[in-house]
Amino acid sequence: VACGGDETPGATTAPTTATGGETSAPAGAGGKVGVSMPTQTSERWIADGEAVQQQLQDAGFEVDLQFANDDIPTQSQQVDQMITQGVKVLIIAAIDGTALAPQLDAAAAAGIKVISYDRLIRDSENVDFYVSFDNFKVGVAQGQSLIDGLAERFPDENPANIELFAGSLDDNNAHFFFSGAMSVLQPKIDAGEFVVQSEQTSIEQAAILRWQQETAQKRMEDLLTAHYGDKKVHGVLSAYDGLSRGIITALENGGYSGETFPIVTGQDAEIASVKLIVDGVQYSTIFKDTRLLAEQAVKAAVALLEGNEPEANDTETYDNGVKVVPSYLLDVTTVTDDNVVEALVDTGYWTQAEVDSGV
Ligand code: BGC
Repeated sequence: VACGGDETPGATTAPTTATGGETSAPAGAGGKVGVSMPTQTSERWIADGEAVQQQLQDAGFEVDLQFANDDIPTQSQQVDQMITQGVKVLIIAAIDGTALAPQLDAAAAAGIKVISYDRLIRDSENVDFYVSFDNFKVGVAQGQSLIDGLAERFPDENPANIELFAGSLDDNNAHFFFSGAMSVLQPKIDAGEFVVQSEQTSIEQAAILRWQQETAQKRMEDLLTAHYGDKKVHGVLSAYDGLSRGIITALENGGYSGETFPIVTGQDAEIASVKLIVDGVQYSTIFKDTRLLAEQAVKAAVALLEGNEPEANDTETYDNGVKVVPSYLLDVTTVTDDNVVEALVDTGYWTQAEVDSGV
């Protein structure tokens, strides 16, 4: 994995990143852009970083790409250094959406434009544009696929027992995912069709700090011990594939297997999870094409540098606490065993060999 700056050992493979970018400008002629990504422990951020870097280079920019190991002081320091180096634009996927205010003040003072990447940076005036996916829709798709999976695998369980796992509370997206999912699940709970035996239905109760797989595994183990001694769980809403793998491990250790394995959702189409879907273990994931997101980020950077407003397709949804940040939101695809090839292989995101091997 070629990623400038702070390379973390143990980084996983990332999907193919090349897209477009056939026109090359002289190297670095457009100036320097700082790209700050949260972590390399999840494939998608490696793919995002590489795609943004490649496309910026193709457009004639020099790039400083850094990954912050999910550590807030590390990210603050990396962004500080980018500002000191005189980058013209910052593209940031924040670990904690509220932690970068001093950096953004410094950036604004230096005339540096800031693009919030995938995750909204909160509580700052100094965010010029937001590129992301439609995060509420991601949540709706997760909730809906839990509903569909339960109807398919457990048509006679009425009520069906479900549990809920959300992302990290400091990530603005986690709130959109959860409220999107609950917009379709809550009516089922209210109607008595679904029961959350743990009664842990608030995002605070369902949240997993920093999206950690191990934390999700532990929480699922605890839920099984405390609430499923004489009952079975039929479905688990999971906001991200890493959480899903922790949940699946806990379920397997708890004796679940085969045709009555609970329906588990996910997000990001990570390769290990795609393999679990093909193997009939994980039910679904939400595919977000990071190559397209990178493209939007680069377009926005170019527009801002030319003194133009980047093209937005949403100017209402993303209030960061200080202002509504103009946004460009992309669509997502629900992936189950039925459309893995069409959604992920035919689009060149993963090869068939990667899907077959899970690495
Ligand atoms: C991203 C998801 C990702 C999660 C954990 C979120 O902000 O939107 O795609 O699964 O972070 O990395």
